[in-house]
Amino acid sequence: MPIYEYSCQDCGTRFEKLIRRDSDLDSLSCPSCGQQHLAKQHSTFAPQMGGAKQSAMPMCPSGGVCPTPGKCGLN
Ligand SMILES: [Zn+2]
Repeated sequence: MPIYEYSCQDCGTRFEKLIRRDSDLDSLSCPSCGQQHLAKQHSTFAPQMGGAKQSAMPMCPSGGVCPTPGKCGLN
């Protein structure tokens, strides 16, 4: 069952809603102000890319960019 994230266009409240059936959309309203001017956000199921980007290459002492390939033994 998909969970959708909505933002209220009236008060800006963001909330997640579990949608079991289409009729849930009809009764969907902002939990803060009760309005139904809602904008659907991106699904929270999108995978999160955690942490800093990591290189799959082993690091050589020069910082990964060896000016003379082969000298550090990694290139
Ligand atoms: Zn609202």
